[in-house]
Amino acid sequence: MDLAPLNIPYLWVVGLSMAAALMFLAAGRALSRRKPRILTVPSKPAPDAHSLLDGLLASALGGVIVLRAVRDPSREIIDFEIRMTNPAAEQLVGRCGQHMMGASLLSLLPCVRASGLFEDALTVVTSGLPFRADRYIRQTETWYQIAAVRHGDGLVVTFADINHRKSTEEQLRHAAEHDALTALPNRKHFTEHLEQAIHRARRSPAYRFAVLFLDFDRFKIINDSLGHEAGDQLLINIAQRLTTNLRSVDTASHGRTAGHLPARLGGDEFVVLLDGIGSEDAAAAAARRLLDAFAKPHRIAGHEVVSTASIGIVLFDPRYTQADEMLRDADTAMYQAKSDGKARFVIFDEAMHQAIVDRLALERELRQAVADCAFELYYEPIVALDDGKLAGFEALIRWPHPTRGLIMPDQFITLAEELGLIPDIGRWVIQTAARQWRAWRNAHPNMQHCTIGVNLSRHQLFDPTLLDTVRDAIAESELPPGALRIEVTESVVMTDMDHMSRVLTDLKSLGVQLAMDDFGTGHSSLHCLHRLPLDVLKIDRSFISRESPRNKHYSAIVHAIMALAHNLHMQVVAEGVETADQLSMLQALTCNFAQGYHLSRPLPPDQAERLFQTTCPLPAPPAPPASTGRASSYTARPKPSAILPS
Ligand code: C2E
Ligand code: CA
Ligand code: CA
Repeated sequence: MDLAPLNIPYLWVVGLSMAAALMFLAAGRALSRRKPRILTVPSKPAPDAHSLLDGLLASALGGVIVLRAVRDPSREIIDFEIRMTNPAAEQLVGRCGQHMMGASLLSLLPCVRASGLFEDALTVVTSGLPFRADRYIRQTETWYQIAAVRHGDGLVVTFADINHRKSTEEQLRHAAEHDALTALPNRKHFTEHLEQAIHRARRSPAYRFAVLFLDFDRFKIINDSLGHEAGDQLLINIAQRLTTNLRSVDTASHGRTAGHLPARLGGDEFVVLLDGIGSEDAAAAAARRLLDAFAKPHRIAGHEVVSTASIGIVLFDPRYTQADEMLRDADTAMYQAKSDGKARFVIFDEAMHQAIVDRLALERELRQAVADCAFELYYEPIVALDDGKLAGFEALIRWPHPTRGLIMPDQFITLAEELGLIPDIGRWVIQTAARQWRAWRNAHPNMQHCTIGVNLSRHQLFDPTLLDTVRDAIAESELPPGALRIEVTESVVMTDMDHMSRVLTDLKSLGVQLAMDDFGTGHSSLHCLHRLPLDVLKIDRSFISRESPRNKHYSAIVHAIMALAHNLHMQVVAEGVETADQLSMLQALTCNFAQGYHLSRPLPPDQAERLFQTTCPLPAPPAPPASTGRASSYTARPKPSAILPS
């Protein structure tokens, strides 16, 4: 028996009248049992219980009916006889008291049987358990709150019309399940509906459906350029177009009214449950119809605007057990539609599914790898171009995966950022690199001039524990702070100059070196460069690429970067040196340092350590370029005697 939310005033009245009725009945029974001769103390005159009851029943806002069971010869209850009513009951039933007294309940109110209340009444009489419920009586189109308790061989029933409360509840429910702007069902409502559809489709293979995920391609631009009111109007138009066009989408189940459900998830994201649609063709036809509808312009705030849709489609498949899974896949397909060029639909397929499964597995494994510190650092040598000697290393993280092999940072650093794992990984990298430096230093005193570089990702620069991490790592490994070089990419630094300038200044105060990585790709302004406490510029490898020695344009850029850096008292490292030509070009341009596959691949620690035993690790240089005036300085350099292992 379900208990409805409490209606306090009504229950108070009903409760009072019930209590009074029961008190009266109990008092009546007690009085009839009492023998006058044992009354030794003169008592006050007994209250007129009948008139008290009459008063209470007459003034009660709820209806009260007292019923007595009518039984057949086998003692089965076949009806109830109305023994007492109050004015509210007479009003609610619409009969006068005279008509009701002594009448058969089932004859007077046939709806009692039709609504199942007769069975409830039988249960109360036989079990003695009280009853309370809200019931909608179809015959009178009214909601009643009904309570009943057993009394003798019958019942006392109280009831009240709660239509008003029910309609308020309905309004609240509607508001909670619909989007205020477009009046479409909202995410909550849609998700519940989708759960039911999944449940139904899993039970009955004959029922199939599809989910469309729609995102509007230019909504943000329109919203930003024409203002929020125009944006709201566009969303309202979109909702109307969606609803109108869905009406004409066919379903596989002909002859049945399709229950396609459109909804707004938020922003410019809409979804549709295509009821009864089980084939890719039918879903595609529906998507095409919607795409056509949205290709037509809207007239908003005096402007004609077009906001095409990108649609992701997912068809029900028994592997789906939850709404979230289908929405996720429809969303993935929608993103695919967007990246394929917008204003189109994409149906979620096995390859996308596999990509998601792989990603989820990778996520799980990455979390585990972080917990186990299951990474390695490789060390890429950096060579001084004036004497050809090893000047330091850049530490580059690797994830040795039991089945996937050595995973490179480009394949997991972004994921680690998304999962919030970067502070842990970053701490491990800094500590490990610092300890490695200390171990090498202890074994090879001749390497103490070497620096060790670590890369920081964007999230690390917003991590409040970064400064402590660096400070602790330096202290723990007794690393001279100047031997640690922290690399931050130019594009990251340029996104939030004020913040970055503060963080870099704080790091600098620890005594470490700071390098701007991938320089030339992030559009730094000279003014910004000047504001940052940088020691090193690392020229991005795109400037050093294969063509560059013969490409005057690039070598001019490298030359300009070098001049700029030297004016700002920074040193320059050229990244990605892959050929001897590139190396000689950089030497001719008096670049300070270089790294790259021509010099060495990044090496595991034991191989990197061997470099301390070689005297001159720079590969044999080609003949000096005759045309530059720097050739003499180049030839004056020591002849390298060894090539780094590759
Ligand atoms: P990066 O800092 O620019 O590192 C240089 C990348 O270029 C390295 O790739 C290196 O192996 C590669 N490289 C070096 N020389 C050459 C060359 O001559 N030719 C070519 N084609 N490539 C060369 P890797 O190790 O895959 O690292 C990629 C990026 O991942 C790094 O770019 C860095 O941004 C990031 N990364 C590496 N380790 C870490 C780390 O510990 N923490 C963070 N946050 N990021 C890291
Ligand atoms: Ca780097
Ligand atoms: Ca770089």
